Amino acid sequence: MTTNVPARAVRVRYAPSPTGSVHVGNAHTALFNYLFSRRHQGRFVYRLEDTDKSREVEGAAETQMAQLRLLGITWDEGPDVGGPYGPYRQSERSHRYQEALERVEAAGRAYRCYCTPDRLAAMRAEQAQAGRPPRYDGRCRHLSEAERTQHAGEPHVLRLAVPDSGETVVADLIRGDVRFQHSELDDFVIRKSDGTPLYNFGVVVDDHEMAITHVIRGDEHLANTPKQLLLYEALGWEPPLFAHIPMLLAADRSKLSKRHGATALVDFLEQGILPEALVNYLGLLGFSPPDGREMLELDELSQVFDLARVQRSAAVYDPKKLEWLNTQYIKTWPAARVAERVRPQLAARGITPEDPAEGPPAIDFVGAVDLVRERAHTLVDLAAGMAFLYAPVVTYDAAGVAKHFGPGASERLRELAAALESASDWSHDALEARYTELAAQWNVSRGALIHPTRLAVTGTTVGPSLFACLAALGPSLVIARLRRAAQWIDEPLARPSES
Ligand code: GLU
Repeated sequence: MTTNVPARAVRVRYAPSPTGSVHVGNAHTALFNYLFSRRHQGRFVYRLEDTDKSREVEGAAETQMAQLRLLGITWDEGPDVGGPYGPYRQSERSHRYQEALERVEAAGRAYRCYCTPDRLAAMRAEQAQAGRPPRYDGRCRHLSEAERTQHAGEPHVLRLAVPDSGETVVADLIRGDVRFQHSELDDFVIRKSDGTPLYNFGVVVDDHEMAITHVIRGDEHLANTPKQLLLYEALGWEPPLFAHIPMLLAADRSKLSKRHGATALVDFLEQGILPEALVNYLGLLGFSPPDGREMLELDELSQVFDLARVQRSAAVYDPKKLEWLNTQYIKTWPAARVAERVRPQLAARGITPEDPAEGPPAIDFVGAVDLVRERAHTLVDLAAGMAFLYAPVVTYDAAGVAKHFGPGASERLRELAAALESASDWSHDALEARYTELAAQWNVSRGALIHPTRLAVTGTTVGPSLFACLAALGPSLVIARLRRAAQWIDEPLARPSES
């Protein structure tokens, strides 16, 4: 099996239907096409399969394109960017399908079928009862000229006359040869009674006319491929090469669906997954780079992508792995890059770092990201972890309150505030030394000072090094928060209801 660069310049396509927002499965297909086109300096075509108006969702076509762009996936030709092989919307290509349909019919490769829906339903019921697969019995294929004349003007569909014997072999670039016996294939419908083509026909005309060299799509389409190959043959066209990429399955090996959590691209982004992490994750779903690297951004994936290294078996979608990758990006990117990405998540919490509700802290925004990012798995976590630097602490973690805000805590916090007021050096190390000193002086453990302090100044019981947090907040915020917490402890009736 070879996936060497073909003689013709590579042209691939992604052909979604505008029926909703982009699902991970579609993003996976779009990404593999994009990567293949980039790897081979080819062209990537975006084609809109928008002929089924009953399933179309208003605005979905534009939304889907915008969502893919969020991942950095772009195309060279498409409904929005144009190109030499347009139009790129199937709804604008009907005349092309009509021409081709007439040609297959005139060549005697397809025939009009006048069977009524009732007859077809009865036939199917009979086949089901006899335990046979549903199949058109070919009645109209063998009508005489006289019979045809009799039917003229009646509603009809056009069916492809599939050869009775022999086989069609799909020489798939990933799966190898997949054989389909003609005896197993129906004389399938290529034109509906309303004159419009069916999916398999439209796709063949478009792929041919758009000079597509490689059809890379999900393997749920494998069963369509022999039909499409028969159409290429009937139309006298050279078919493209086919590569059916593995379907995405959930961990329980069922088809990935809503009940497995987020499946739409936007859901992931809303959960604070970086587009780069998502691309990285999807790029390695069913594909493994030769050097076994795990962290690759779009450009790096484009350099190593190879259909020969795409697995045949289904790829299991694992949200933990995605989160792990996301964590790695948040940890290892330059903090300034992460900082720009977390802004929207902070904004969603009403936080503008340059104009904080309380502060400003003693560190800059990039420093704040650096302080907090160690424990963040997502941008949502990161923004949550950063909030204490820019907004007042209004609630305290309940388990923390039970543990650290008990009897004597308010006095302790006031004593700490007073002791810190005289601190001249507000660095991490000096603060740490001061706490050690105070613990010895008051004859308590360091923890007995550290835990209530953290709860008072951050509202939580976990986070980065406390002394780094105190240094970052600066003396006035820390001292004010210690006093505010003491007051909160002393005046339970004055607290806003915590519902
Ligand atoms: N509109 C089809 C889909 O979204 C495209 C199939 C193909 O790539 O041929 O599954």
